[in-house]
Amino acid sequence: MPRLSEVIAALENLWPAERAESWDAVGTVVGEPDQDVSRVLFAVDPVQEIVDEAVKLGADLLVTHHPLYLRGTTTVAASTFKGRVVHTLIKNDIALHVAHTNADTADPGVSDALAGALDLRVVRPLVPDAGDPAGRRGLGRICELDHPLTVRELAARAAERLPATAQGIRVAGDPEAVVRTVAVSGGSGDSLFDHVRAAGVDAFLTADLRHHPASEFLADRAAHTPLALLDAAHWATEWPWCELAAAQLDEISDRHGWDLRVHVSRTVTDPWTAHAASDPTKTSGAPN
Ligand SMILES: [Zn+2]
Repeated sequence: MPRLSEVIAALENLWPAERAESWDAVGTVVGEPDQDVSRVLFAVDPVQEIVDEAVKLGADLLVTHHPLYLRGTTTVAASTFKGRVVHTLIKNDIALHVAHTNADTADPGVSDALAGALDLRVVRPLVPDAGDPAGRRGLGRICELDHPLTVRELAARAAERLPATAQGIRVAGDPEAVVRTVAVSGGSGDSLFDHVRAAGVDAFLTADLRHHPASEFLADRAAHTPLALLDAAHWATEWPWCELAAAQLDEISDRHGWDLRVHVSRTVTDPWTAHAASDPTKTSGAPN
């Protein structure tokens, strides 16, 4: 059975902390380096629901994509929601480790997992990491489809292959347009529009697209290639990484002859839990 410090070293090797953005907070948040680890749980969010799941599972280590604390704090009192998470973890001897932007830009990383879930062939990063001479690391991925799909079909595939959320997939652009190339980026993607435009792809699949960047981007598309936007729930676009990361740790565990059980949480932690569809016969204008 490996010690926590050995498992963390393996995770750091996959997602070195120095490759995280300067504003990010990655690495080990809670944990006793000498404790034994026999069960690991991967999840997107370090929220109470997930920590409770880790307790129930008997996990010794929880690995999440999102940080618990992005900024400094002066309290971990259990009366605060993050303090409650810290208390539950420590009381149950569960370590917490975070791989965020260092997992986004890794090879393979968050967007490779997203592309893989949709059977898209990754060609290259959307925003290559200047520090990687091989050009394999970076933010987002530019992908090709083995067989062209319409925007409508690609959205249906995303809705089917990504874990189900209340949001589903929102689409902007001509649903019958043909997609041969698509840029994907797990998590919030509207800061990447300039790169998507420069890549000349047929569609962009990401999450958290806001009104102004999206509508300005679409208004500008006549001057470039026609382009569709597919907006999924943030959590759903990052969840496939949990499966990829768990498989990576499983493989490392086998190589070391560790007795390690690796699990992926299927709990939906997307904050949006319901969706009321408008009447399609009334979507052509504001109410009279
Ligand atoms: Zn995220």
